[in-house]
Amino acid sequence: MTASHDVVIIGGGGAGLRAAIAIAEHNPRLSIAIVSKVYPMRSHTVSAEGGAAAVAGPGDSLDEHAYDTVSGSDWLCDQDAVEAFVEEAPRELLQLEHWGCPWSRRPDGRIAVRAFGGMTNNRTWFAADKTGFHMLHTLFQTALSYRDIVRYDEWFATTLLVDDGKVCGVVAIELATGRVETILASAVIVCTGGCGRVYPFTTNANINTGDGMALAYRAGAPLKDMEFVQYHPTGLPFTGILITEAARAEGGWLLNKDGYRYLQDYDLGTPSPVPVMRSMELGPRDRLSQAFVHELDKGRTVGTPYGHVVHLDIRHLGADLIDTKLPFVRELCTKYQNIDPVRELIPVRPVVHYMMGGIHTDIHGATPLEGLYAVGEVACVSINGANRLGSNSLPELLVFGARAGRAAAEYASSATARETSAVLARGRAEQDRLKRKLARHAEGSERIAPIRTEMQETLEASAGIYRDGDSLAKGADKVRELRERFGCACLDDHSRAFNTELVAVLELSCMLDVAECIITCALAREESRGAHQRTDFPARNDERFLAHSMIHRQKDGSGRVSYLPVTITRWPPGERIYGR
Ligand SMILES: Cc1cc2nc3c(=O)[nH]c(=O)nc-3n(C[C@H](O)[C@H](O)[C@H](O)COP(=O)(O)OP(=O)(O)OC[C@H]3O[C@@H](n4cnc5c(N)ncnc54)[C@H](O)[C@@H]3O)c2cc1C
Repeated sequence: MTASHDVVIIGGGGAGLRAAIAIAEHNPRLSIAIVSKVYPMRSHTVSAEGGAAAVAGPGDSLDEHAYDTVSGSDWLCDQDAVEAFVEEAPRELLQLEHWGCPWSRRPDGRIAVRAFGGMTNNRTWFAADKTGFHMLHTLFQTALSYRDIVRYDEWFATTLLVDDGKVCGVVAIELATGRVETILASAVIVCTGGCGRVYPFTTNANINTGDGMALAYRAGAPLKDMEFVQYHPTGLPFTGILITEAARAEGGWLLNKDGYRYLQDYDLGTPSPVPVMRSMELGPRDRLSQAFVHELDKGRTVGTPYGHVVHLDIRHLGADLIDTKLPFVRELCTKYQNIDPVRELIPVRPVVHYMMGGIHTDIHGATPLEGLYAVGEVACVSINGANRLGSNSLPELLVFGARAGRAAAEYASSATARETSAVLARGRAEQDRLKRKLARHAEGSERIAPIRTEMQETLEASAGIYRDGDSLAKGADKVRELRERFGCACLDDHSRAFNTELVAVLELSCMLDVAECIITCALAREESRGAHQRTDFPARNDERFLAHSMIHRQKDGSGRVSYLPVTITRWPPGERIYGR
């Protein structure tokens, strides 16, 4: 079976929907398809809580937002991308308001903004603490009003079709029936989100398995800065459910087992009864997660059946504030931790949250592979560098979603469709591969679940908050071994309708690629910067590594790392200073 559109978007989260709307607005004659392995409203964007950063008026400035982002990134972001981002973010958030997003407001009716980690001023717009839910609803309902946007809900994209150096479509499985279809397109935009599930303990949804990163990498597009993995300092133990930074922005404290606000010992300022910007609990996420590890080493954390924790204390904020500004925090703590944060301390520990790296793109979302674009957490444009500031990701989806949509629309408007026999043959070959996978009966002892568990544990042990050369080298060997074992793994379920085991196999094959890229890049970067902390190379080394790592897939399947200089426009590398 073959379908054909002008632009195919893989992913129906915030990035994918924003890109789709931009294409429909740019050229209403184009046919747009959104292929999503889950119903769009179930994309991970829905779970974003805290808010979206953009300068909201007097008392703040684009330069300050840009500087916070650059210093937060430990100077690894591209400053031209950051400048475009901070300039366009307010417009995008206002546009969302016009489409119906219910931003929380001040008593006088103006948009309310809250503090967020690493930001100098209050600039995080929010819709209570369910910002992603409201944003995704707004984008989804707006996308519904365009008839030219066709949706393939619950279709899983398995490969990108490339011919003569150009991307010309995807192959996808309809999960309800097992039908495999070739979907031709002049341009493809990958918006498949992050890959937190490569690790054992994450805030990310089960679907965040790095599929788009692997698909682009296999098709010949390089991945960028894959060693930079963000740990959020406050996840609930056992579930990994996120307790949003907004809880600290509203005045929450982090306490060790002695009830002491330990962040004052880590160059993050001194305690104050009210939150101080870029200070203590409002420091950047990389520093806060690293401080937890030091507290653990000093024996000052609290042991629980689900690992060591510290405490987040929001009791002093009072029930009224919690119920108006942090209702979801109360709901999550009550339902999943059986505690009421109005009266009790919340146990928290660092949890894998966000991938700074991803598919390398330019400022318009274009990858080096003609016809291929990428946006959102799957991409690396890069505004996040070595450490993303909380609340910069949601506006990133909008700003670069719109940019990539327009760029892809422009390209598709002038490109000729490529329904060549070579492309169709590639589509058929992928269909056959999937049929063979489904038909192959289990022999031997290899099963998917243990390979996935071992991969996750390997990543945590070798490429966690702190890393070193020995553990990374061991991790690389282990992932190679897991890949070989994966090659022998077979399916127990051979049914065609909603075969979740087949989906798990496809996802695991993507995660193994991503895992290998993370470890390879982390091993090659012999310095410490942002979220990448090497105990054997504890200092930042601008001479060698003020550059993006780029990993390219070789013919033999291994990754080759090269470096691309960082773009610096106005802010030369300096020291990251917080709490002063
Ligand atoms: C719990 C949580 C809270 C967060 N809170 C905030 C916050 O307050 N502020 C902020 O700025 N950021 C926040 N973030 C980060 C931010 O929400 C994400 O980075 C962002 O929403 C990712 O959006 P996306 O569109 O790139 O991907 P997603 O929303 O993850 O969407 C990915 C899409 O790709 C599809 N897909 C994936 N693989 C395939 C495939 N093989 N075939 C077909 N479809 C596929 C999925 O179906 C889905 O539709 C949070 C993240 C988490 C996990």
